[in-house]
Amino acid sequence: MSEIIQEQLPYADTALEPVVSAKTISFHYGKHHAGYVAALNKLIAGTPYAGLALEGIVRRAAAEGATAIFNNAAQAWNHAFYWKCLAPAGRGGEPTGAFAAAVARDFGSKDVLVKALADASVKRFGSGWAWLVAENGKLSVVSTANAETPITRAGVTPLLTVDVWEHAYYLDWQNRRADYAAALLAQLANWNFASAAYPA
Ligand code: MN
Repeated sequence: MSEIIQEQLPYADTALEPVVSAKTISFHYGKHHAGYVAALNKLIAGTPYAGLALEGIVRRAAAEGATAIFNNAAQAWNHAFYWKCLAPAGRGGEPTGAFAAAVARDFGSKDVLVKALADASVKRFGSGWAWLVAENGKLSVVSTANAETPITRAGVTPLLTVDVWEHAYYLDWQNRRADYAAALLAQLANWNFASAAYPA
């Protein structure tokens, strides 16, 4: 039987300090993200979901209203995506190519886009995620509640995300979600990843 595997982090657990500490990563990656993957594997064992890729599990569970499977699968997917959206300070690059042109066209500048993502991060009430997405090539910022994820929407491609669950920032920033989001976007956003993910 094939299980969903939690991908390795693409950097050392200290690589995102001080914005995201190694202690936060030890809990966020090592406990929360790992916990979603472990719970998902228990839930799908012996079901028609076993053997599907993670994206397929998310979409099928959403379509079938399989809430527990959806929540754990979507959180497993969202977290794997979140880690890729981050890079050590100075390593994330800048928007390039067709993505850079889309940022200029749809937001005016990267600074305006970053402000929109920061605002969406702050305004999401309770737990959830802020996203930069592309739909038919057009960029927009959205937010989702709890485990909800843009990949259940046909034609929508996520390019960047901010995890705004308290477990993402509380050890380092306590209740200061706005400061966490601003620092994350200013110092750790992986624009190389977003540029490559943009469906040109
Ligand atoms: Mn999280």
